[in-house]
Amino acid sequence: MLINADTGRCIGAGMCALTAPEVFDQSEDDGTVVVLDAEPGPERAAAVRRAVQVCPSGALSLAGAPATG
Ligand code: SF4
Repeated sequence: MLINADTGRCIGAGMCALTAPEVFDQSEDDGTVVVLDAEPGPERAAAVRRAVQVCPSGALSLAGAPATG
């Protein structure tokens, strides 16, 4: 699993950081997403998928893993 975060689309809603705080944080400058762990292990996969789903701007996407499972 590889996380791709498009900071140009991020609106700083912070849902990702709330949902998976070990993987996402927010910039102190403008609140946009900061990826703490771009290649999270399987133990974080469920939280990361939730974060991708709850992001209101579609700024987050995943590579290197099937969409489900
Ligand atoms: S949930 Fe989406 S829009 Fe909100 S801070 Fe995270 S990446 Fe940005």
